Amino acid sequence: MTLGRRQRSTIHPRWALRARRARTLIADRPHTAPLLQFYLAVLELQTAVCTTIDVSAWSTAVERPADGASPRLQLERLPVEVLSVPFAVFCRNMPDSAPTPVADAAGALTHAHAQRRADLLLSMLTGDDLATHAEEFDCEPAPLAFLPRAFLSPIAEDLAARVSAGTAATTSVCPHCGWPPLVSRLEDTPHTRGVRRLHCALCAEAWTFPRAVCPACGVSGDKGLEFHVDEGQPHVRIEACQTCRCYLKSIDLRVLGVAEPLVDDLATPELDLWATDQGLEKIVPNLLGL
Ligand SMILES: [Zn+2]
Ligand SMILES: [Zn+2]
Repeated sequence: MTLGRRQRSTIHPRWALRARRARTLIADRPHTAPLLQFYLAVLELQTAVCTTIDVSAWSTAVERPADGASPRLQLERLPVEVLSVPFAVFCRNMPDSAPTPVADAAGALTHAHAQRRADLLLSMLTGDDLATHAEEFDCEPAPLAFLPRAFLSPIAEDLAARVSAGTAATTSVCPHCGWPPLVSRLEDTPHTRGVRRLHCALCAEAWTFPRAVCPACGVSGDKGLEFHVDEGQPHVRIEACQTCRCYLKSIDLRVLGVAEPLVDDLATPELDLWATDQGLEKIVPNLLGL
């Protein structure tokens, strides 16, 4: 067994609970196994990113001065030319379990000029449309977007863990990195029942947000959120906005304490299909494009 192989067979302790939850769900919900097995393989690849890239040298460059401005990180300042090299390794090691469009995009990126990979990373960080890149690489935008997002996510998570977002973080986007929320969680705290927290779609940090407010448009009340619960998964519900028709899932940890919001979101694709049928659009797709 080579060193590289051994590194890829391990998942970073930071994600141990997510990995354990994914393995449980593979056993409990076999129809989600292909999705979740690929997710576990991505966690292994992301572990390799974490163990080979030391972000500490960049934290000063990307962190805003502590003047209360949000988001605290300016990730577009990351040295994308430097990151282009490990990004090529990340693409080259894409596992066999990857969906074909992702594998094709990874192949194109592995053999691309380093500057073109750097340009793609920068576009992802600045929120630019990736359509032009997809045309250049002759692939679809969604599988192409998966690659820089999956590569940058552990770097963003590492950097976000180093900064404080302050106590007044009730914004509709991540106070750490400025990305939209992927999934919502509900839990009791020692002081408050039913606290709602939103998980960032890039850095995975969570922040408190009012329960009845749509994070996409800010509307609440009669024209705000309505809820749909799947009987088979009572800890997961769809929070859909009647005004902007956006939705995200909410994971109720009071119903199922061992749930992991990011994983349970991936493991309930039937709820995304239901939402799409209702004409709803997810605020931001999860890593696997659902
Ligand atoms: Zn974030
Ligand atoms: Zn809304």
